[in-house]
Amino acid sequence: MEEKVKALRKTLRRIYKYNPIYKDKMDKVGIKPNDIKSLDDLSKLPLTTKKDFFKDYPEGFYCVDKKDIMVYHSSSGTTGKPLIVGLTKKDMQLRDKMCKDSTEIMGITKDDIVQICLGFGMFTGGLTFYEGLKKYGCQIIPAATVSTEMQLFYMENLRPTVLVSSPSQVMHIYEVSRKLGIDVKKIPLKNIRVGSELLTEAMRKKIKKAYGEDVSVTQDYGMTETLGPGIGMECTEESGLHLSEYYTYELVDPKTKEPTEKNVGELVVTSLYNEAFPIIRYCTNDIVEISKEPCSCGNITPRIVKFIGRSDDMIKIKGVKVFLSQVEDFLMNYDFLNHQYEIILTNENFKDKITINAEYFIDLNKEELEVLEKRKKNIEKAFKSEFGIFASINLLTTNSIEIKPGKVKRVKDLREV
Ligand SMILES: [Zn+2]
Repeated sequence: MEEKVKALRKTLRRIYKYNPIYKDKMDKVGIKPNDIKSLDDLSKLPLTTKKDFFKDYPEGFYCVDKKDIMVYHSSSGTTGKPLIVGLTKKDMQLRDKMCKDSTEIMGITKDDIVQICLGFGMFTGGLTFYEGLKKYGCQIIPAATVSTEMQLFYMENLRPTVLVSSPSQVMHIYEVSRKLGIDVKKIPLKNIRVGSELLTEAMRKKIKKAYGEDVSVTQDYGMTETLGPGIGMECTEESGLHLSEYYTYELVDPKTKEPTEKNVGELVVTSLYNEAFPIIRYCTNDIVEISKEPCSCGNITPRIVKFIGRSDDMIKIKGVKVFLSQVEDFLMNYDFLNHQYEIILTNENFKDKITINAEYFIDLNKEELEVLEKRKKNIEKAFKSEFGIFASINLLTTNSIEIKPGKVKRVKDLREV
């Protein structure tokens, strides 16, 4: 029997023993672990949604004795209670392997000096990279909780070749560098690896423009449920995220949750080797486009070539569905705007109103400032033609939009229901 099927059956047996919520789901459709004879049989198994994890919070899905858990991580809980996931020794080894795979594919070597700007703590990102890259052999600058000015101080003095960060943080560092008169292009960076938030193509362009066209900007993808980053990893071709072989993937219709033959759909993930918190057919809420064409890097694993959007990032306005990533792509194409923006939804006289606040770079010259009003009108016009709805645009100077630490929240929905 194929190794992956064996691993899946082993996982299912453990679930059957420890996880009454998923066992119950399996019993309802009359499926036992040994009924799974190939990966195609996976579709016979019930789906898992985030709601299932909270039916017996926090440990309902744990499939090991509690004493075997070595560390806990958790999601940020921006949309409710944070999901707490435990990791056994084996899970941590798997996490390191996933980090090694993604690091290699990004062309990062043991000789690289890596500055990690992501927070260390319950959030999986920072510590996964810290542990994984340390074991891989890189020199680490754990600049997790320092101010942006100090990030730049370490960058100038320790000269990292790799930056591990999030798209908005990378741009924020750039913005502060402009204020301080530091030329970030002089720092010998060869790779900026970003995660935690979605990297849109327009944002990638902006980061490259800021740090240098020869710097590769590659993206990590993952979630607390899958031990953190590492299920999707972008190679230096920057043409999509290769999917990790430690999981299996399906696409379903986001509405009906039925498997789809199309190459676009909601990504459903099954863990093959996770010990403490295995997930079977987990609906990620992420709508993606998958390509099975071989990548020019030579790797033939399927790739996520586009994040169409997370279903929980979708904004419904005046009956029109808009994905945040589309709005970001739209805004980032304006060179004079920095990376910071927010979308405010209100309703006046029972009509939805959308307002977008976007910041421009701090050092615009006098002529550029004079044409701001005209630019604002042009952006409003372009938005209307792209999205079919009117948005009122406010152009603000740098640092006008309040940024709270943690995951950036772009949408403020102030509509009364
Ligand atoms: Zn590739």
